[in-house]
Amino acid sequence: MSINALADTVRAGGRLTEAEALEMYLSAPTHLLGQLANEVRQRRHPDRTVTYIIDRNVNYTNVCVARCSFCAFYRPVGSPEGYVLGFDEIVRKIDETIALGGGQLLLQGGHNPDLPIEWYEDLFREVKSRYPTFRLHALSPPEVLHISRLAQISVPDVVRRLVAAGLDSIPGGGAEILVDRVRILLHCDSKASADEWIDVMRHAHRAGLKTTATMMYGSVETPAERIEHMSRLRALQDETGGFTAFIAWSYQPEHTELQGVEATGVEYLRTLATARLFLDNFPSLQASWVTQGGKVGQLSLTYGANDMGSVMIEENVVRAAGAAYCMDEIEIVRNIEDAGFEAKRRNMHYEILGGPIFRERQVPRMLELAVSRADGDNSVPAELVNYPARSRAERERRAQ
Ligand code: SF4
Repeated sequence: MSINALADTVRAGGRLTEAEALEMYLSAPTHLLGQLANEVRQRRHPDRTVTYIIDRNVNYTNVCVARCSFCAFYRPVGSPEGYVLGFDEIVRKIDETIALGGGQLLLQGGHNPDLPIEWYEDLFREVKSRYPTFRLHALSPPEVLHISRLAQISVPDVVRRLVAAGLDSIPGGGAEILVDRVRILLHCDSKASADEWIDVMRHAHRAGLKTTATMMYGSVETPAERIEHMSRLRALQDETGGFTAFIAWSYQPEHTELQGVEATGVEYLRTLATARLFLDNFPSLQASWVTQGGKVGQLSLTYGANDMGSVMIEENVVRAAGAAYCMDEIEIVRNIEDAGFEAKRRNMHYEILGGPIFRERQVPRMLELAVSRADGDNSVPAELVNYPARSRAERERRAQ
């Protein structure tokens, strides 16, 4: 079919096949892709609202046995640079988040063999006993799978136990590209195959959780594999309706084993726009300002995105691989409003909470993103001894 005929299909509300989406991605002029994505977005979100959330990306541990080749964040078991955050540190981060108007943590970490399921349950209960309405958007599908393998209990049972302890929703991390050929090349097939990632999300949706979905593009995948990734997500969304949003970000190559070069801003906008056309059952698409910066983030709002993502407060993973953008609430709102939209705060379910918090009360400015741990802080949380160590390195450390 010609590009014009495909554009007519989109304008008539028709669904693109994988081959048609690939054709659009490869051959449609960038301005046409953007125009169509903007039309589809306006059909779904007819007002001028662009949402954002105030939360904090906390990485509870950087110790990881998965060792993905695109990751600059992890440290191997026994590394002197490895850390696990204490419950008291996480509570302090929550206090700071609440002071900035936030209401949730995005909590993710490495696959640490010395953290059993009880550690997560105790942490979640501790948080919920102190802050009953605070939300935990936590543990991507590969982390859930890691906990399930360690505990030797099924994924549905892990999800049930974590929800009982306080888990509110699951972030869509660890998806990278949901094609096993790519996952093998990225050394991330063992943490979760494409089917396993989808299956964890299926169980989470069946348990009543809403989740997001992500895509890390620009490493070793082909354009057709990007579309295949989106196709897996679209099929699960048809089945469960459990995804709230899709977030695409570009592979950040600095300090990684894989290395390479980062995809351009135009590639980002074309990928985002194609996602808006193809993922016709996803209500929201986020702009990834953390990898693209505020200016491309602004442009994203006319290439299909209706959400500016998170104020974030803290970020460790993308920064370790070279991206160092920071926007506090004032900056995010300025970017949204300067692009001609109305900025609204939301929660994890994309329900509107209100206007910018800094217009209601004074909040501290944030000129750089916080980090998990200050450099050189090698402290070990006291409560860790309550959980049996599985790794030899941790058993030896405790024996000293
Ligand atoms: S991406 Fe996640 S699972 Fe992979 S090495 Fe990094 S921390 Fe571990």
